[in-house]
Amino acid sequence: MISERARSVNPSLTLGITATAKKLKKEGKDVVTFGAGEPDFPTPHNIKMAAIKAINDNFTYYTPTSGIEELRQAIADKLRSFNRVSYEPSEIVVSCGGKHSLYNIMQVLLNPGDEALLTVPYWVSYLEQIKLAGAQPRLVQTDEDNKINLDEMRRQVTGKTKLLVLNSPSNPAGAVLSQSELKSIADLALGHDLWIVSDEVYEAFVYDGLRHVSIASLSREVKERTVMSNAFSKTYSMTGWRLGYTAGPKEVIEAIGRLQDHMTSNPTSIAQMAALEALKGPQDSVKTMVEAFDQRRRIMVARLNEMKNVECQMPKGAFYAFPKIHSTGLSSMEFSDRLLREALTAVVPGIAFGRDENIRLSYAASLQEIEKGMDRMEKFCGTL
Ligand code: PMP
Repeated sequence: MISERARSVNPSLTLGITATAKKLKKEGKDVVTFGAGEPDFPTPHNIKMAAIKAINDNFTYYTPTSGIEELRQAIADKLRSFNRVSYEPSEIVVSCGGKHSLYNIMQVLLNPGDEALLTVPYWVSYLEQIKLAGAQPRLVQTDEDNKINLDEMRRQVTGKTKLLVLNSPSNPAGAVLSQSELKSIADLALGHDLWIVSDEVYEAFVYDGLRHVSIASLSREVKERTVMSNAFSKTYSMTGWRLGYTAGPKEVIEAIGRLQDHMTSNPTSIAQMAALEALKGPQDSVKTMVEAFDQRRRIMVARLNEMKNVECQMPKGAFYAFPKIHSTGLSSMEFSDRLLREALTAVVPGIAFGRDENIRLSYAASLQEIEKGMDRMEKFCGTL
């Protein structure tokens, strides 16, 4: 009854664990959740007020499919000032979240039989989105420290390879690519005539004085082969609002517009007005959030490294710790499942990201919750 296409999709393990944790919570259990991929801060007040104003002003009708002109202009301004890349509003399309933006990109770039390079550990939806476009993911193993291994990437390129996916800062490893690493990857892509899909949704979350670099800012040639995806979800704590965007060559953007014409039409009009305020209004709430995450990151990673058979590198970006737990003798699924049931602490098994040796914990949680969850996990690891 169900199409082969739909049957080939695996359910999102990250959402699955969150659902189990929520269920236990509903039953009255005191669950600590490190599973969610979203900031624990509320959407900033000025952004909420802009949405309320949009409703009161009856800004509640269809907008152009690709988003209102003012928002696309504001995104272009932000891309110029923050990302150091120049795009016209006609080279930008607004979508219903970063996930939708990435889904669109895969749909317009990939043909059945094409291959797409994906570095491990990867964010789980890339894999499914590549498959849903009829293409094949080709996994590129990274080095011990989650660094991209260019030789390995080159080895995985075949005559069918159409694109590579980049995610810096990355989910789940928190890896941040430097300008020189990006340059080498861009050279490889240009040399093999590949598209670069650059997911920059965690761009605001970089620590230790690092700077986020957009690969499209390297040169005109690189920009012409890059399709950039981003969203308001993480930077402005707007995960529920569902607003993302794609910037890239006009041909790609127009193709995405045509797809959206028949898929979703425009993203929510009210959310677009909120996003406009997010870009144009004060940015201090972003700074406050990033500073809080930086502190939590250090505390969580220090605690993890004190645990028996757990080893965690300091992530450079995003808001996840990705410790190795394979020395416990458990698979990532067994570890996560038992930790949730026996110690009421929810984490995501690394297998969801192609790495069974690790688990992922989000430190977008209060310090109190972090301490409580770390106490529980420490005790749990001690019993293994
Ligand atoms: N890319 C990555 C790497 C992510 O982790 C996420 C959210 N978990 C997204 C894209 C999508 O974000 P959203 O659809 O909520 O905007």
